[in-house]
Amino acid sequence: MERHVLGLSGGRDSAALAVYMREHRSEIDIEYFFTDTGKELPEVYEYLDTLEGFLGKPIVRLNPDRDFDFWLRQFNNFLPSPRTRWCTRQLKIRPFEQWVAPMLKRGDTVYSYVAIRADEEYRAGFASKHERLIVQLPLKDAGVDKAGVMEILDSAGVGLPAYYEWRTRSGCTFCFFQQKIEWVRLLERHPEFFYEARRYEKTAIEDGSPFSWSEGESLEDLARPERTREIRRDHEKRVARMQARAQVNPLRPDSEPIDIDDLYGHAKACIACHK
Ligand code: SF4
Repeated sequence: MERHVLGLSGGRDSAALAVYMREHRSEIDIEYFFTDTGKELPEVYEYLDTLEGFLGKPIVRLNPDRDFDFWLRQFNNFLPSPRTRWCTRQLKIRPFEQWVAPMLKRGDTVYSYVAIRADEEYRAGFASKHERLIVQLPLKDAGVDKAGVMEILDSAGVGLPAYYEWRTRSGCTFCFFQQKIEWVRLLERHPEFFYEARRYEKTAIEDGSPFSWSEGESLEDLARPERTREIRRDHEKRVARMQARAQVNPLRPDSEPIDIDDLYGHAKACIACHK
């Protein structure tokens, strides 16, 4: 038997891929899934509800059998970081592998649709490790770039997740891939999550963790009013510089918003968390 699965992260690209498949490949019966770290923004769940309405079918929620706190204890309270990314492995990849394992064991062939765009590289690290788990990249194959993704979501009436007003990343509230301006905005928009992250960090540092969530400073320092003002000022300068440099495409003048990644360089984002 053939199975077709598509992972939604709560982010822009995977949502556009789901819409694209519904509009262009409606003959395929796709099973949509979301791997829930338990540390997601409320806006992510709202967006998933919107998508379920559009897709006309439920998005399967894959919850890890063991939560973030469990794994944090296993890792001696050391926070995950870009170099020791145990969180993606345990909270995103493992639940997916556990979900598809019985399918593969039964002899099914599983097609996994992944939201890599035409303007992105596909990293071999995400390639399938099972011969009957076959990765497909429909957006890349169809030449859909970032502006194309925006068009797909706009014309379907799905739009962007609400957090795009202040953050360009799906995934955990405390993701260490966030830029400092996103931490400042998390503090402003969802102080409860900022303070939760600060509590995790405090315990981690007391237990000898070499990592803070944000490089080079603790969240306690980052939250000081003079520091948040400085981060905002720096950010505004970057935005102004980039706007001055941006070349407007006359055919699609509003379709390519400036992402945090465009401003600060591409962090090693993950297709399991941030697509
Ligand atoms: S969103 Fe960030 S913190 Fe959460 S699992 Fe992914 S990499 Fe880790």
